[in-house]
Amino acid sequence: MRSASNPDLPVAIIGAGPVGLAAAAHAVRRGLTPLIFERGPTIATALRSWAHVHVFTPWRYNVDAAARDLLLEQGWQEPVPEGLPTGAEIVRNYLEPLARHPDLAPHLRFNAEVQAIARTGLDKLTTAGRAQAPFQILWRDASGTEHRTEARAVLDASGTWGQPNPLGVDGLMVPGEREARDRIAYGIPDILGRARENYAGRRVLVAGSGHSAINAVLDLLRLQEESFGTSVIWALRRNGLEKVLGGGLDDKLAERGALGLAARRAIEEGRLDVLAPFATERLEPTGEELILTARVAGNTQTLTIDRIIVATGSRPDLSLFRELRAALDPVVEAPLALAPLIDPNLHSCGTVPPHGAAELAHPEPGFYIVGSKSYGRAPTFLMMTGYEQVRSVMAEIAGDHAAARDVQLVLPETGVCSTASREAEAACCAPAAQPVPALVSSSCCGARA
Ligand SMILES: Cc1cc2nc3c(=O)[nH]c(=O)nc-3n(C[C@H](O)[C@H](O)[C@H](O)COP(=O)(O)OP(=O)(O)OC[C@H]3O[C@@H](n4cnc5c(N)ncnc54)[C@H](O)[C@@H]3O)c2cc1C
Repeated sequence: MRSASNPDLPVAIIGAGPVGLAAAAHAVRRGLTPLIFERGPTIATALRSWAHVHVFTPWRYNVDAAARDLLLEQGWQEPVPEGLPTGAEIVRNYLEPLARHPDLAPHLRFNAEVQAIARTGLDKLTTAGRAQAPFQILWRDASGTEHRTEARAVLDASGTWGQPNPLGVDGLMVPGEREARDRIAYGIPDILGRARENYAGRRVLVAGSGHSAINAVLDLLRLQEESFGTSVIWALRRNGLEKVLGGGLDDKLAERGALGLAARRAIEEGRLDVLAPFATERLEPTGEELILTARVAGNTQTLTIDRIIVATGSRPDLSLFRELRAALDPVVEAPLALAPLIDPNLHSCGTVPPHGAAELAHPEPGFYIVGSKSYGRAPTFLMMTGYEQVRSVMAEIAGDHAAARDVQLVLPETGVCSTASREAEAACCAPAAQPVPALVSSSCCGARA
């Protein structure tokens, strides 16, 4: 059996989203061989499904440093740093050229869905020889044929987009939700584009309180101006509209703040009904309509609607690493040291202390969850966070422990930072998990000072 330290073995990266591709760029920079498994037929399959959305982070936050170096070698024209791209533009102007780079392209496998990861020749209970055993990646190609590939380390950058949360406040589908699936969209449909006919002139309920929900609500309000009869109900699970609408002008990301301000205006003008706290109890599809029964502010209400958009976030698929010794926080489903820094019960900072290989490590050496999946169920992930994660992790895998520890990250604040306790404040405002030399210069404490 080959050893995990065998330099001929590749570093497996699961997912060719922005973070998986950045990880591959850092691997190349470190002289490691990446092998990227992507279940879709092309890169950035998740991002393409929200291609119509304008992101709220400008280009300077969306491009990884190692990826930029590779691209500039190829004569790439860097986008204007302050420009705000759509998802489609990120794919076209950044990720596609990156994936075509001759150092990356030969290492990409499409229609390659990873099913499971294990240690070659060892079950989960066996400790002896574990760190030396290569990883075993079980993956399926487009024809359904299974393959096995060995790797010296694994980065799971497979995101959470494919596992949307259902409508039920308890995390389960409500009765009738499955039957009504043809009238429910999970995520953020292209309301003003491809999905227009589905919403024009209809009564639409949007469930959720994040930026995806606000985006959907605002698109529906735009559609309302052009298509008579379109009406919008915004259902929030919790009270606290102020927090949902965000920091507005105080938000360091102008576009993110603008979303909240536009939603606030629509409420004040009476164009948008907001129901909170809202808990759907059941759905009954009847003919063309949907009868929705919910508890609204403690009372039972019945609403007749046509369509539902469920934008209540997503959750990680934990089944991939069932055979590995992964340690996840039971609440957030993020790596143990990272979870307290991002747990929305503790604080609402848009920023997170810098973290890297040390905070992302598991009892299984050489295995890391990175990118949006590393945040588990927490909703505040930004690409930039993932880029610093993979820079640090690749440095660690390459044996440059000093560079792996030297994590640096400065994220924009939401302007509505709050913490639940002194402990949370400490976690929010300083790198609680691991002393690191470089601190965030814009922390949540700064936001409130
Ligand atoms: C609507 C929306 C707007 C956002 N706006 C911003 C923003 O303005 N700024 C910002 O910084 N962040 C933003 N984010 C958050 C985040 O940066 C993005 O979700 C980003 O795409 C996460 O990158 P990722 O590489 O971690 O995961 P993803 O982009 O989700 O990529 C994961 C990849 O893994 C593949 N995959 C999944 N399972 C498997 C498997 N089993 N085997 C092989 N491949 C697999 C998927 O097909 C996908 O291509 C936004 C997110 C959403 C949903």
